Amino acid sequence: MSIQQNLRDLLASLPPHVTLVAVSKTKPDEMILEAYEAGQRDFGENYVQELTDKQARLPGDIRWHFIGHLQSNKVKYIAPFVHLVHSVDSLKLLQEINRQALRNRRVIDCLLQVHIATEETKFGFDTGECEALVTSGTLKSLENIRIAGLMGMASNTADGSQIDQEFGLLHDFFVQLKVYLPSLHILSMGMSSDYQLAIKNGSTMLRLGSSIFGARIYDSSH
Ligand SMILES: *Cc1c(COP(=O)(O)O)cnc(C)c1O
Repeated sequence: MSIQQNLRDLLASLPPHVTLVAVSKTKPDEMILEAYEAGQRDFGENYVQELTDKQARLPGDIRWHFIGHLQSNKVKYIAPFVHLVHSVDSLKLLQEINRQALRNRRVIDCLLQVHIATEETKFGFDTGECEALVTSGTLKSLENIRIAGLMGMASNTADGSQIDQEFGLLHDFFVQLKVYLPSLHILSMGMSSDYQLAIKNGSTMLRLGSSIFGARIYDSSH
């Protein structure tokens, strides 16, 4: 299967309100350009150095999504151009994104990453922390970030009912938080192995890598 055919098949199967982010981590420029030539403009990367290198070489109208764990001291490298940071998991990180966005005279859209999986290793706020942040008023002073939504990753399990339940919880939480924060409109959930369940549970943004580009040889995301 070619990248372009994979994309066409995927896009034909997705509801119109769902945005597809093509996760291109570890993939070479040629593969990204193949997807670009098929009309894909949203790409996701996990590593700051890889993202800044690719951004410098590839077309300027690509919308680059940062989806990996982001260290505060690296925000400055992506702040000039990043389209959406999916993986905000601390107030400290949010404050640094705000500071760097201000330096670049822009507003950076961010998603709060919520921990929904049973695994210990996944980053993210738990729902209580997330609600406390949103209702605290702290966000009002951060004028150069906009909380556009939530992101979550389900457990890495073959148990579909567990994944279904985790996505369902995140969607319920998203609806609940919207009462405090009407700017929330993006629910980023769903990877290659579980995106159908994510859509069923109200995802508005999928992050798909291997189902577009094929399997990765190196993957330290888990
Ligand atoms: C790698 C990665 C994806 C894409 O994973 P696939 O299984 O290849 O679709 C999505 N989200 C995050 C956070 C990732 O690190």
